[in-house]
Amino acid sequence: MRDEWHERFAETPDVLKSSRRPQTVIPVLDLEIGGDEFITMAGPCSVETEFQLMATANHVRRAGARILRGGAFKPRSSPYAFQGHGLEGLKMLARARQESGLAIVTEVMSEEDVPQVAEYADILQIGTRNMENYSLLEAAARSGRPILLKRGMVATIADWLRSAQLILDNGNPNVILCERGIRTFEPALRNTFDVAAIALLKQISHLPVIADPSHAAGHRDLVPALARIAVAAGADGLLVEVHPNPDKAWSDGEQSLDFRGFDDMMASLDPYLTLRRIPLREACGSRAMEAVG
Ligand code: PEP
Ligand code: MN
Repeated sequence: MRDEWHERFAETPDVLKSSRRPQTVIPVLDLEIGGDEFITMAGPCSVETEFQLMATANHVRRAGARILRGGAFKPRSSPYAFQGHGLEGLKMLARARQESGLAIVTEVMSEEDVPQVAEYADILQIGTRNMENYSLLEAAARSGRPILLKRGMVATIADWLRSAQLILDNGNPNVILCERGIRTFEPALRNTFDVAAIALLKQISHLPVIADPSHAAGHRDLVPALARIAVAAGADGLLVEVHPNPDKAWSDGEQSLDFRGFDDMMASLDPYLTLRRIPLREACGSRAMEAVG
């Protein structure tokens, strides 16, 4: 890594790559994030019903996802919108893990909820609105669970790395950085997908980097293209919203893929993963194995 980057990010030395720390690999159940396998995390924005969650878990697993996402505690822009099922949602996620074998990632929104969410989830998600909530970050770090740290919607890369450093400082080395788009002057899309941040972080940081094309785009038609761009930029995985009936979703339906859309997106990643020499069978599970014969 060039000295220039060391100087620029001097405040956060422990997140930077070095010969001693070339890459962090995070074990989660039977898989590794930041290792050789490209990891797709997929599922609904919100946990709604047992049927919705199980149908989605089974489908995304068959299509090659390795981790199930779903919000039980939802940070909504409107106080009148569905706020999530809370503990009931966590229990549904735990049942979905038991039935599907998929690991679970879900958001924790407040310090008090950390022990409960950590009891049910394999990975704690810190949402964009909480990236600078330092007391929440400390509590989440101390839970010992891996932390998926979303980029704040108005956070610079340096701000984001400061939050990652804080988690490391609190004794938790297992941080996954998630680029989910930032606010810029461009109003056509929900956010602006900062793909350069992914490329830069893959050069300067040893932490795994994943992309969330769903919140970046805000429109389902754009999600597959952003996912492919993320693979090309070097991301270690994806976080994607998938729903059995997106038009009826309780949150973020307009950016959620239906099952067919998810299958098509996964298949479209194959050539990009091949270019990166990531084995298809690991990248996309049995579906890709069938495709390559
Ligand atoms: C989500 O993942 O559903 C979510 C609320 O994400 P973000 O914090 O990136 O808006
Ligand atoms: Mn969402």
